[in-house]
Amino acid sequence: MPPPRTAAALEHIFGEAAAGVIVIEHSRYARMHVGMSATTRPNRILLAGAGARFVADPELVLHEYFHVLGQWRGGRLTRWRYILESMRRGYWENRYEIEAREFAAAMASRYRELAG
Ligand SMILES: [Zn+2]
Repeated sequence: MPPPRTAAALEHIFGEAAAGVIVIEHSRYARMHVGMSATTRPNRILLAGAGARFVADPELVLHEYFHVLGQWRGGRLTRWRYILESMRRGYWENRYEIEAREFAAAMASRYRELAG
């Protein structure tokens, strides 16, 4: 569970579904993705490290929640699509990543106000 203010800020931005996202700390699966601090699956965020470190990085929080609630949910993002997109464009130019970065950048100041 994220701290209450973080949870409230996420719910404000993403709606009630934010409360149902499961965040897993110290995930072995996440650590297999070398150089990445987090990875996502349907309704799940897998962290390589501790939750406190994750919560301290607002843009990363928004980015990962966006992958889950804006992309995985509704089936727009699938593992296969992500792999194809990564093969075509790599990580940085991957459209799922571009979208998540843009969302995080656009919402960061609002989120900081809410999450304190
Ligand atoms: Zn991402």
